[in-house]
Amino acid sequence: MENYSKINQDIKTIQNEMFDLMSELYPICRSITGEGVRKSLNIIKNHINLTINEVPSGTKVFDWEVPKEWNITDAYIIAPNGGKIIDFKKSNLHVVGYSIPIKKKIQLEELKKHIHTIPSQPDIIPYITSYYNEDWGFCMSHNQLNELSTGEYEICIDSSLKNGSLSFGEYLIKGEIEEEFLLTCYICHPSLCNDNLSGVVLLTFLAKYLENLNTKYSYRFLFIPETIGAITWLNLNENKVKKIKGGLVATCVGDSGESTYKKTRRGNSKIDQIVSHVLQYSKTNYTIVDYYPYGSDERQFCSPGFNLPVGSLMRTPYRKFLEYHNSGDNLDFIKKESLGDSFRKYLESILIFDQDEKFLNTNPKCEPQLGKRGLYRNVGIMRSDANTDDVEQRELAIFWILNLSDGNNSLLDIAKKSEMPFRIIFETAVQLYKNKLLKQTEST
Ligand code: ZN
Repeated sequence: MENYSKINQDIKTIQNEMFDLMSELYPICRSITGEGVRKSLNIIKNHINLTINEVPSGTKVFDWEVPKEWNITDAYIIAPNGGKIIDFKKSNLHVVGYSIPIKKKIQLEELKKHIHTIPSQPDIIPYITSYYNEDWGFCMSHNQLNELSTGEYEICIDSSLKNGSLSFGEYLIKGEIEEEFLLTCYICHPSLCNDNLSGVVLLTFLAKYLENLNTKYSYRFLFIPETIGAITWLNLNENKVKKIKGGLVATCVGDSGESTYKKTRRGNSKIDQIVSHVLQYSKTNYTIVDYYPYGSDERQFCSPGFNLPVGSLMRTPYRKFLEYHNSGDNLDFIKKESLGDSFRKYLESILIFDQDEKFLNTNPKCEPQLGKRGLYRNVGIMRSDANTDDVEQRELAIFWILNLSDGNNSLLDIAKKSEMPFRIIFETAVQLYKNKLLKQTEST
């Protein structure tokens, strides 16, 4: 795979396509189960050949149980003066997720016990769920709550909570080897963009991009409801997890903040080194944080019984932005350029994961004569568009690669030791390999 120069051309188109898909998915009312998830998965299926799995309610998954399926068609509140003051059809955030069905007349004081607002952000509608405690509720802006007059309100939540199934999407791109890289996102949030339609659209287009490359590793993409979906998938696929050699949880990748990488629980796995390297050469500001046991689905993949090398590359992390879990996390909060930048960092990380390997110098006794092979002071031929600095760097890369390719150092190790970007090391190694100055190690 030698696609570094092509990526730049592709990203501008892809970031627009990601935003278009996000706009299409945004209005759909999703939850951890139900028709909204299926509808969303079917839209994603227009782009990649997703398998949609259904796991029946009541299925035991480790310490949990797949919940009943929740569906909703309508919800509203009618004020004493007859005006409809809350309409689910205008914003699905108005209803507490997993609300049980209810239709009755109720006094304001009683209704207030079931209304959620954010007093510190009085214009904003919060996102609230009640998955494992059967309850009902409405969400509205604090300003709207303050305007409600006393009297009798007519409330309706036309929902159902019945035995059904939990739906999730899965897509495996087979590589040369069975060892896998895992890419997961969650599809259980309703009209919220950064958390987490951004992850959904990023992985959809990453899958679409990767399926056209010939990769060494296999790449597994999961589109699952958060927490219960990860627990369910791990329970159903416990025999497969040994194949997972690295992974990333994609969430909060579309805001204008800088990149944040949350390391794997292991702290120094290959993916940790790779993402650190990509960020170091990204020419953007970034933060790297150690693993912590709350957050998204890395909590399940990195639970001690699995301890998989799965990290999470985000921008501003969940809970750290004001728009988190409220109506402010809408399409206006997303920057196409941020989606594109996140896509690039994911793709570069994957390319390194796929291309990193150890080589052996075929001429380890003293330096080989590079001049007669046209490799020294003539490196410009490697890339006609290379500038002088690049040419010098590529000459130095030759010395680093030949000296360190003793079977102990991978190309990424050489990139780190030489303080050069992986791309330069990789492309130079390809030239040396073509000139038979490198050979593959026996084990790979
Ligand atoms: Zn969330």
